[in-house]
Order: sequence, then structure tokens, then C-alpha cells
Amino acid sequence: MTKVLVIYTGGTIGMIKDPESGLLNSFDFNSVYEHIPELNRLNVEIDTMSFKKPIDSSEITPKHWVELAECIKKSYSAYDGYVVLHGTDTMSFTASALSFMIQGLQKPIIFTGSQLPIGVIRTDGKENLITAIEIAAAKDSNGESIVQEVAVYFEYSLYRGNRSSKVSSHQFEAFKSPNYPELAVAGVNIKYKWNSLLRSQHPEPIYQFDLSTSVALLKIFPGMDIEIYKGIFNLAQTKGIVLETFGSGNAPSNIAMQKMMEQYVEAGGVILNITQCSTGGVKQGAYQTSSFFNKIGVISGVDMTAEAALTKLMFVLGTCTSVAEVKELISTPICGEMER
Ligand code: ASP
Repeated sequence: MTKVLVIYTGGTIGMIKDPESGLLNSFDFNSVYEHIPELNRLNVEIDTMSFKKPIDSSEITPKHWVELAECIKKSYSAYDGYVVLHGTDTMSFTASALSFMIQGLQKPIIFTGSQLPIGVIRTDGKENLITAIEIAAAKDSNGESIVQEVAVYFEYSLYRGNRSSKVSSHQFEAFKSPNYPELAVAGVNIKYKWNSLLRSQHPEPIYQFDLSTSVALLKIFPGMDIEIYKGIFNLAQTKGIVLETFGSGNAPSNIAMQKMMEQYVEAGGVILNITQCSTGGVKQGAYQTSSFFNKIGVISGVDMTAEAALTKLMFVLGTCTSVAEVKELISTPICGEMER
């Protein structure tokens, strides 16, 4: 029988209401069958494990990403797929980070969670969990996993993890993949989009867990006083900056801002330009207001989400040993996170 490991990190999905206090508490995930007896009817052998102290995903740090990735590395030969239950708030960050930390997967790592706790009658958590397990266990006619990458399953859609973003704090349809099609849609049957699925040339996964946290995320806005952000452009502290710019990668022609960026890049800092728009990407040089970025060596993040850009920067800075290498790798698609 196909074997899937379900790892509970925390978040709303694993909560039930204490009947006395009325408060939401995490339940012991090893007793998940009591709460979702339907799992017994899936033709899948399910093991469960849980973070010692399940956390709200706002508390997630790169240390937790490493813990999760280590757990998958250690058990990789024992399971056909993984389901990671995670709070929705930062799920796309964790899924993006894991896609870089474990490349060349031959098995699925499916993230899911829910907007309503599993112990609430109208919960979306049951469907999300059951279908995520089905996807994690799904094989093609050659006996190979259909999904061989990190993905997010939520409200009937499967998205590439590093293309996903949380877009709603209250709707069941909480995630979107703004610049890449869904990998699968669950209706009466689960319809896989075969042409969109990632396939690796590597026979085994490549694990790389060194991440740099010397990164910043800066969103520009009209009238921005760059002096306030001076500290960010200090290379001793910040090795790389994800800059969220207007439209197709544009910024005001503010001399003080340009000078600060130029000096930072000259000193060896890396600036990665992504758009603030919810769809589309960066085309540096399309307008006068982005040509300066080409001149000083700001790197285009093309159509990456902020979650993918930031975690890729952490990964690349943690992995590469020279600025030239960082610039090369950050501009190269690694695992389907950006358009070629
Ligand atoms: N605050 C929660 C979290 O992200 C929300 C959720 O689980 O959906 O952990």
C-alpha cells in the first residue's frame, strides 16, 4: 500500500474547541483518526508526526524549515509522499523555501491547512487534508508519483508551492498562483495538468539547508523618504534586498534613492527587483523609470512572488561563495519558481 507521512507543524487545521473554555487549542495529532474517521477509508497507509510544540505559522523561522526538511530527508526512502499541515499565514514562504532546499524531488510534498479548524462543523480542513493525502499518494501508470515537487493544495486547487501566495484571510479560496497555472484541480476526479508538472533530471533529491537571513524586503511607494531606510543598505547587515517596485519594475528617479542603491550594489550587495502587482512581472528597461536598475546591476526577479524571491535570496546567499555566483544563480530558474 502507498505510504504517506503527514507532518503537523501547527495552524488552524489542527485545532478543536475546548468545550469548557470555548477556546481553540491544538489537538494531539496522533489521534487524527478520531477527528477524521474518513481517513480509514483511504487506500493509503498514513503515518503521522507532529512538531513537539505546534505553532501558529506566524512563528515560523528558517530553523523550522530546516527541521521539516531534515525530517523529509531522513525518511525519504520510507514514504511515497508527504503532506505538511501548516498555518496558512506563511505557508507559501515555507513551501517556497522547501522547494529550494530539496530540489530534484521524485515524490510529492503537499502543503495544506485550513481557514476553519478541523473541529468546527463547516471546516474546510477535512476536504483539504483528505485530497492532499490522495494527491501525495497518487501514482501514474508506471508506478511513479504524479506530482514530484513541493505544492500547496487548498480549496480544490493544487498550486506549485513557490508560485503560490495567500490572498485571502477569510475566504476558503485563500491561495492563488498568480503567474503559473494550477497543477491540478479537484472536482469529481482530480484532474492533473500534466504539462505544468515539474520533472527533475536528478535520480535523487539534492539537499541544501544553508540559508542566509541577512536579507530585507522593501516595498517602494510614492513620496518614499529613502533616508529612513538607510540602515537596510548597509552591507555589513544586509547581503541582499528584494525590492518591490511599481508595475513592470519601475521606481521614482529619486537621486538619493539611486545613489544609495548604486553604492550598495557596488559594494557587493544584491538587489532583486519584483513587482508589487498581483500578476505579471518585471521587465527592466521597458520604461525610463527602470533603466537605472539595468545600469547599476539590479537583478530582475521576472515574475516571482515575494515569497519565492525572498526565500530564493536566502537560499542563494546561503549556498554561493561569491557575489558573481549569487547573481548568476538568482537569475536562473531553479525549480519552476520563475519564467525562463
Ligand atoms: N494564524 C494561523 C496560522 O497561519 C492561520 C491558519 O492556520 O490558517 O498559523
